Amino acid sequence: MTWDIVGHEWAVAHLQRNIVAGRDAHAILLSGVAGLGKRLFALRIAQALNCELSPGDPCQSCRSCRRIANSNHPDVRIAGMASQSVGLKEEEAARQKELKIGTVREWQRDIALKPYEAQRRVFILHDAEKLNEEASNAMLKTLEEPPPYASIILVANSAELLPTIVSRCQLYRLRPLARRHVANALVERANLPLEDAHLLAAWSGGRIGWAFRMLEQPDELQTRQDQLDTLIGLATASPAERLRWAEQRSKEYRGGEQQLVFGWLELWQSWWRDVLLVAADTPEAVVNVDRRADLDHSARHYQLPEIYRFASRIGATGTQLRENVNPQLALENLLLHLPRS
Ligand SMILES: [Zn+2]
Repeated sequence: MTWDIVGHEWAVAHLQRNIVAGRDAHAILLSGVAGLGKRLFALRIAQALNCELSPGDPCQSCRSCRRIANSNHPDVRIAGMASQSVGLKEEEAARQKELKIGTVREWQRDIALKPYEAQRRVFILHDAEKLNEEASNAMLKTLEEPPPYASIILVANSAELLPTIVSRCQLYRLRPLARRHVANALVERANLPLEDAHLLAAWSGGRIGWAFRMLEQPDELQTRQDQLDTLIGLATASPAERLRWAEQRSKEYRGGEQQLVFGWLELWQSWWRDVLLVAADTPEAVVNVDRRADLDHSARHYQLPEIYRFASRIGATGTQLRENVNPQLALENLLLHLPRS
C-alpha cells in the first residue's frame, strides 16, 4: 500500500476501490477529533485522484504526487481557518471563529475553472465544522451540482455539520488508533526509543497526527508537562491561587487565545479521567502513565462520585465557553467546585 498512512485501513481500502472504479469522488467528508492525521489523509486522496502512474494508489514519485505533497499543484486548492486568516493581525486571526461565506465564494469561483493539467480539480476545506450558516448554504449549492471534474474534500474535527451537507458527502469517520499502533509507528518511522514511544502514544490518546507533530515541537511537550504540574498543584492551592488561575485563563480567552484555554481544560479532564480509572482499579487505559505516583495519591484522596462529577464539570465548562458564557464566571465557577485534596 503506497498511501503511507498509519491506521484507518478500512477508509483507505474503500477510497482506493472507489477511485479506481471512478465512483463517489465528488464529495468526501473526513471527520474525527483533531490530531488524527486528517490533513495528510486529505492530501493522499488528492494524490490518489491525480496520480499519473497508478490512480487510486498514489505512487508518491510522479510529478503530480510530488507537487501535491509540496502543496504546489495548480489543481489542488486548500482553504480553511488558516487561509482565511492570511493577512490579518495575530489578535484578529485568533478571534476568527467561523468559516465565512467569502472563503466559500472565493473557492466557488475557482471550482468553475477546468483543471489546468490534472484529471480532477481537488478542493480541500479544513475546519469544515466551522462553516457558519450562510457559508454552509453556499457550500450546499456546490455539493448539489459539483462540476464533473471537481472533487471536494471537507475535513472536520466533528461530524456536526449541517445534515444536508453530510448527506451529500461520502462520510469517513476516522477514529483514534490503538495505542500500540501509534507506539509502533513512532519506533519504526521516527526511531523513537521504545519507552518514549509508549509514553507519547499514551499521551496521544491514539491521535497519531498529534504524536508526530509533538516530535517536531518538543517545546509543546514541555509546556504540557508544566501545565500538568500547575493543574495537579491546584488541588492543594489556596482559594486565592485557584481564582488567580481562573483569572489568567479568562484573560487568555478574552485575548483571543481560546485554543490555549481549551487545551488546558482538555489536559485537566484527561488527568481527572486518569484519577477515575485508577480509583476504579482499571489503570490500563491511563493517559498520563508517567504520573502514576500522583495518580495513586489522588485516587486515594477522593471518592469516585466526586472525581466523576468534577471531570464532567470540566467538560461542561468547555461547552459553556463555546456557548459564549462569560469566561471568568465559567472558569471561576469550575475552580470553586474543585474538590479539596
Ligand atoms: Zn503518482
